[in-house]
Amino acid sequence: MSEPAELRRQPRVLARAEHSVSRASISPNAIKVLYRLHRAGFLACLVGGAVRDLLLGRKPKDFDIGTNARPQQVRQLFRNARVIGRRFRLVMVRFSDEVVEVATFRRSPEPPEIEDGETTDVLAATPEADEFGTPEEDAWRRDFTVNGLFYNIADFSVIDHVGGLEDLRAGVIRTIGAPRLRFAEDPVRMMRAVEYGARLGFRLEDDLSDAIAEMHGEIRRAAPARIAYELVESLKGGQALPIFRGLEGSNLLEHSVPEAHRAASGGGDALLWRLLGTADERVRGGEKLSEETLLGLLFLPSVLDALMREGEKAPAPGEVERDVRDRVDAAALRLALSNYRSHLLRSSFLLLSRLLSPPRSAKFVLRTVKHEAFPVAWQIAHLLGAAAPRYRPQLGPWEQAVARVRAGLAPEVAPARPEGEKRGKHRRRRRGGARRRAGAAGAAGSAS
Ligand code: ATP
Ligand code: MG
Repeated sequence: MSEPAELRRQPRVLARAEHSVSRASISPNAIKVLYRLHRAGFLACLVGGAVRDLLLGRKPKDFDIGTNARPQQVRQLFRNARVIGRRFRLVMVRFSDEVVEVATFRRSPEPPEIEDGETTDVLAATPEADEFGTPEEDAWRRDFTVNGLFYNIADFSVIDHVGGLEDLRAGVIRTIGAPRLRFAEDPVRMMRAVEYGARLGFRLEDDLSDAIAEMHGEIRRAAPARIAYELVESLKGGQALPIFRGLEGSNLLEHSVPEAHRAASGGGDALLWRLLGTADERVRGGEKLSEETLLGLLFLPSVLDALMREGEKAPAPGEVERDVRDRVDAAALRLALSNYRSHLLRSSFLLLSRLLSPPRSAKFVLRTVKHEAFPVAWQIAHLLGAAAPRYRPQLGPWEQAVARVRAGLAPEVAPARPEGEKRGKHRRRRRGGARRRAGAAGAAGSAS
């Protein structure tokens, strides 16, 4: 935000005794970096989300540091440092168990050009120029007031240039500067507003909400990789359900993950919501779900439509495989997922199609378990089983077989049930027929 200097107020500074941020709750590595910068004569502050979370009594995800030292000066202070990034060079200081990011204070880039009432496509572009600035300018270019607070290691004070302390107390997400301008500069901020609102249980300030209601379609102009990044961040923290409900409610999901938007249209009890709620419980319980598993949940209802075409005649050879591939590839392209990530997603869904029928043979189990996408498929299958009981019976025989493989035993596979035996209500295909092998199981076959 380039706000005229005279409009900016004096910063509010809370001395050490007036706030709850203590060095004991900051990671020792971040403290080390802060002190080394400080002793070398530079300004050094903890910035952004860490200050917000510490003031709220929450555990920060990471500790980002702002300084007036230039990237090369920072690098020279640390042997374990690497300068990265083309647009805004960041210094990553690497420790055995943590990376601390150090960024030089900078001011906001020039606001995007307006042509014919439309912002030009500078949003996805990356300007070359580095624009360093003062700590105050650095606070003003940030997204929300609660994300614009600094903790100064020189005197342990909290510095608020942007009104973040007040909004933190009131539980409000407010853009720094006018929301329409900030969202035009960077539409991803609309997603971030919803994400932090849900994550912190904060209300979105009225003007901000109105701006999203008017501008949600602008999200299509954001760089896909940045959208994907925010989606993954939103999925990871154990609050995915409220965040994605918020994204759906503000029409941002429709433009970022249309297949999830369609899945959400089934109402409050839609499978998508049950999947996200189940994943949240597990994450909060300490289970480690991979990023691919979490992303996969957004596409799972759509992929299940391809895998479980109930009541239809058996698909032509390779048709299910093609359908699954097409769905995953379209999403991967739209979100600019890496080749490896889309490969894992595609393969895990094809493996999932195996897991939804009883294992065919011991060899088949071994091949499945050995596949590099199996861990993702297995997590997705379990989340599906937990969220939708109708899928549980299919997983049972696989559980036993996989447990045996993991115990170093040969998998025991029950013989195929004879034709005519009562089957689960939702079984899609006939067992054992050539068609089956040619259909989804054929699809799974080529996942290996
Ligand atoms: P968390 O890491 O807990 O998700 P965070 O606030 O640290 O939250 P990051 O995505 O790590 O979020 O970003 C760090 C900081 O960078 C933010 O607190 C904010 O000040 C600033 N920031 C991030 N994204 C933007 C953006 N799109 N526009 C302006 N400032 C941003
Ligand atoms: Mg952060």
